[in-house]
Amino acid sequence: MKRILVTGGAGFLGSHLCDRLLAEGNDVLCVDNFFTGPKLNVAHLRDHPGFELMRHDVTFPLYVEVDEIYNLACPASPIHYQLDPVQTTKTSVHGAINMLGLAKRVKAKILQASTSEVYGDPELHPQTEAYWGRVNPVGERSCYDEGKRCAETLCFDYWRQHRLRVKVVRIFNTYGPRMHPDDGRVVSNFVVQALKGKDITIYGDGRQTRSFCYVDDLLEAMIRAMNTPDEVTGPINIGNPCEFTILELANLVIDLTASRSKLIFKPLPADDPRQRQPDITLAKKLLGWAPRIELKEGLESTIRYFEAQLSGAMAQAEVIPIARARELSD
Ligand code: NAD
Ligand code: UDP
Ligand code: UDP
Repeated sequence: MKRILVTGGAGFLGSHLCDRLLAEGNDVLCVDNFFTGPKLNVAHLRDHPGFELMRHDVTFPLYVEVDEIYNLACPASPIHYQLDPVQTTKTSVHGAINMLGLAKRVKAKILQASTSEVYGDPELHPQTEAYWGRVNPVGERSCYDEGKRCAETLCFDYWRQHRLRVKVVRIFNTYGPRMHPDDGRVVSNFVVQALKGKDITIYGDGRQTRSFCYVDDLLEAMIRAMNTPDEVTGPINIGNPCEFTILELANLVIDLTASRSKLIFKPLPADDPRQRQPDITLAKKLLGWAPRIELKEGLESTIRYFEAQLSGAMAQAEVIPIARARELSD
């Protein structure tokens, strides 16, 4: 049994990670300031003997004793990270310094949740880890992109300078149950709009692409990355390489929800990347991992979640991982 700290543990990815780590028999300390992750996401874990929830902002020092740290604390959607951009940079940079300092003191391993945004609006397609990116340092997305880039720099300097065991994973667009319904991300927006019969908002001409990874697949890669030998530091791309245009996504959501929603076109946000697809050759090699859940199946599960949430019928605890749902239906 390990003692594992998950920062941002009440968020979309963090709450599923807490579920997984507890199911594997670990003790989990979930630290969150509840900026974008509601307590409800982890309410079902409250009485679990291995679970502890602490309200704390990672921009302040944290003194606890743990074996591993998953550093996920940071708002991830543009709407949220642009609300208080200075705080976003502080969360990434001061948060990373504090978590790395903590890892150094207690000799813990630390996994940093980085992002495909470190590639900015890329000229190289698909993106490999060797690509340095094309990021605007002074734009509206910079607080997030540059904050995450600096957090990566810090991880590698702690590794070189202090021999700290670090694992940097670059997460590409991920979706699934417990996404925040109002966070403006494309999957949650489209699903909620389709279920409510509202217009589906396509930004730009909808021909920009993204590659969508289902949350269960992503967590498997994250946990495998944490368990790699010490010399494996990353960065490692994790995501699903199947690429779709935003228009294709919208039409698939409409089909799966049998919605009558219409598509409407709105201006493309500043610095919105045209194309994004991970090259996951390295993840396949180092982690023996590849995503297994196709967009249609992942969307069906996400739609079921939002349907239940919108009707007020489902407690958060009832999210069933797809692998388990498959077993139950066999
Ligand atoms: P999320 O917004 O649902 O979760 C982030 C969590 O961090 C929230 O619970 C929030 O309250 C918490 N938080 C924010 N600032 C904090 C602070 N200063 N101190 C303590 N807690 C704080 O987002 P998510 O999608 O679950 O993303 C988790 C991590 O993964 C983030 O670091 C994000 O950058 C990264 N990531 C996510 C995606 C994706 O597609 N979901 C893609 C790339 C990277
Ligand atoms: N820190 C923390 N918890 C710890 C140890 C350190 O939050 O258990 C923070 C502390 O705020 C410190 C930062 O991590 O400033 C970086 O720590 P490090 O030891 O690398 O550098 P220091 O600034 O202490 O020289
Ligand atoms: N997008 C859209 N309609 C929406 C929300 C997003 O067309 O209602 C587009 C957005 O402009 C971007 C893509 O979908 O091109 C993915 O957006 P998201 O915010 O989910 O992720 P990111 O841009 O960070 O990859």
